[in-house]
Amino acid sequence: MNKKIFCPICKKGRIKVTKRLKTRSKYNPTKNYFQYPNIQWFQLPNGKRIKICMKCRKKILKSKLEKLNI
Ligand SMILES: [Zn+2]
Repeated sequence: MNKKIFCPICKKGRIKVTKRLKTRSKYNPTKNYFQYPNIQWFQLPNGKRIKICMKCRKKILKSKLEKLNI
């Protein structure tokens, strides 16, 4: 488990999620876990590789790459 998973562009990191399994009885178990952003390698036009989340990747591919300042 990597604790330092976060996107350098939108600063999105892990989020704590509580999932409740509703049953018919009074017993309703809850699950606590962390949700991580979908981070993948992305190659910039100058050859550099950075790890960004898929939301930022879609934004970058839609707009022009020159607007990005990293
Ligand atoms: Zn991002």
